[in-house]
Amino acid sequence: MEYLSTRDKTLRKSAAQAITMGLSRDGGLFTPVTFPSLSALEVETLCGMPYRKRAAYVMGKFLEEFRPEELNLFAKNAYGPDRFDHPDVAPLHKMDKRTWCLELWHGPTSAFKDMALQMLPQLLSASLRLTGEKKTACILAATSGDTGKAAMEGFADVDQTRILVFYPENGVSEIQKLQMVTQEGANVGVCAVKGNFDDAQNGVKRIFSDEALREQLAGRGYFLSSANSINWGRILPQVVYYISAYCDLLNAKEIKLGEPVNFCVPTGNFGNILACYYAKRMGLPVGKLICASNCNDVLTEFIRTGVYDRNREFHTTMSPSMDILISSNLERLLFDLSGGNDERVREYMDQLAETGRYEITPGMKKRLQEVFYGGFCSEEETASTIDMLYKYDYLIDTHTAVAAKVLTDYRHETGDKTPAVFVSTASPYKFGDSVLGSIGETPAEDSLERIAQMERVTGVRAPARLAGLKGKEIRFHDVTEKELMAEKVLEFLR
Ligand SMILES: *Cc1c(COP(=O)(O)O)cnc(C)c1O
Repeated sequence: MEYLSTRDKTLRKSAAQAITMGLSRDGGLFTPVTFPSLSALEVETLCGMPYRKRAAYVMGKFLEEFRPEELNLFAKNAYGPDRFDHPDVAPLHKMDKRTWCLELWHGPTSAFKDMALQMLPQLLSASLRLTGEKKTACILAATSGDTGKAAMEGFADVDQTRILVFYPENGVSEIQKLQMVTQEGANVGVCAVKGNFDDAQNGVKRIFSDEALREQLAGRGYFLSSANSINWGRILPQVVYYISAYCDLLNAKEIKLGEPVNFCVPTGNFGNILACYYAKRMGLPVGKLICASNCNDVLTEFIRTGVYDRNREFHTTMSPSMDILISSNLERLLFDLSGGNDERVREYMDQLAETGRYEITPGMKKRLQEVFYGGFCSEEETASTIDMLYKYDYLIDTHTAVAAKVLTDYRHETGDKTPAVFVSTASPYKFGDSVLGSIGETPAEDSLERIAQMERVTGVRAPARLAGLKGKEIRFHDVTEKELMAEKVLEFLR
């Protein structure tokens, strides 16, 4: 299967090339030229498989140049019991007769990013072999909190790779920061940026398009690659859990084969929900895709009006992984909605860069609204949703709460009774401060003490890796101005 750039569809790459490069040189995102289909019979077959087999099977449809045994091995490594603390890997929690919560945080860093970032390093290593690349890949990642840690955890001590992570100095939770600055591994680096997530992400994008820097690094034996969700190797493993959730609902006899299921996804960079859209494109019976935002509601407005406008106040919220005003992966959706019109995508992206705004055509808007619903959730609503579900004996984090609330709103507004899954993207322990506050407790000052406090109060066991942060050595202290990120890269790759 070939991959094209969303900004130039004549530019074609193999999967291995697309994964190695991360971002196309023209700034576009690599997207499959066609979508393989998933038949009802295949869905039935997948029902009889464990998660790792489902992953290898689904990914194999997009990665023809990789051997099936190889993909099976990768999936076994990525989703094994030493990495995931739940035998189902991505289990469904039943809320009521027609509502489930898909828990995607049972991996090593307790956020859904592990679902992809336990896989990507293996795909990248194999891609380097397939393309004959001899240089070392330097992974640059901008993180709103969870990507950075999950990427480092996935890439730590992987051959022929280095990884440098930038995070907004005051834009991540204490636990997230602690997870990052204590990361082990000889090939990892972490640096805070004075600014917000968009500043960090734009800084990384600038570095990627800096040809002079590229040459300088090539001279030192490095090339730059990305672990952000712009990399196809990040999106693909995420397609799997939507298909897997559907299989689990079938296995539990909650739905019939072919019956549509709605998914509500807490959204930031539009990677997670895009993967759901791709599962639908393959033929999975997905009904409505509900895009849930916090009060950074640029996507809600976009879905409702067809106007994307980032010229608005940036809010720091208790769901920081969704504090994003430029959702990079939306570009892949635009490409698809426009019927593969690369020229139009380029125009929109130029307008976004120049004025911070673009408006899609009426035809695209119609297709967008047929599939997507957009809603957002205030800080108060996030807190009250956590509190309400806790009273029903289910503890969720702030990001998951946004999805739960927007799903409720969607059902009230539309009366749609289709079975629905809302996606849980982080363990409540990752955002203990806000979660404890939401259930009426006064959170302990110290973020590690809060973990113990939360266990005492709720009786829900903390993920072992988070509890284990206590007493870990802090390895990284670097902070940089956003204009000086390239210098940090040069320093890191001295
Ligand atoms: C990254 C992240 C999100 C947003 O996912 P996108 O793929 O960027 O839309 C939501 N919740 C949590 C906890 C995350 O880490």
